[in-house]
Amino acid sequence: MDSLGAGGCSETFRYMELAMEQAKHALECLEVPVGCVVVRDGKVIASGRNRTTETRNATRHAEMEAIDVLLKQWQTCGLSASEVAERFSNCVLYVTCEPCIMCAAALSILGIKEVYYGCANDKFGGCGSILSLHSSCTQTNTSEEDAPGKSFKCTGGIMASEAVSLLCLFYEQGNPNAPKPHRPLTQAKPDMPL
Ligand SMILES: [Zn+2]
Repeated sequence: MDSLGAGGCSETFRYMELAMEQAKHALECLEVPVGCVVVRDGKVIASGRNRTTETRNATRHAEMEAIDVLLKQWQTCGLSASEVAERFSNCVLYVTCEPCIMCAAALSILGIKEVYYGCANDKFGGCGSILSLHSSCTQTNTSEEDAPGKSFKCTGGIMASEAVSLLCLFYEQGNPNAPKPHRPLTQAKPDMPL
């Protein structure tokens, strides 16, 4: 079965299961299978999946997709920057693979409350694998203008084996939509050119 991570309550797995659904959907669409959901006050308020191939945009990771759904929604509602920040500070992200450096930085700047992830991202991970952006900033940093970001709680290893299995499936089958043939076929890692 899956490797149980810390904080392995049933609620955590229930939300990660939903993130996994998103990752499966990505796989069906021939995208690197990474998915996520954002939960606020016990409710799933956004979900996202990797869309880098479809959009031909290497920054369209699952986390960015979900974040943009929320930003659009909240801006449409007319929320101020501080109200948006307040909302993010109550959001928990469940993502099937450790956020990359780009996404971890974005989550830190937005001031997300907490992140649960599945498998580690040994190549680009920003929550412990390569950099530790979740813990490198101070909690007390509240200025919007000059804040590099805030720390957030981060727990990995939730349904990690399922997350890895999906990535393996993807790389085993190859990626017919890939624009270039240099995609690593042997590594179970989300791609992100840096
Ligand atoms: Zn990312």
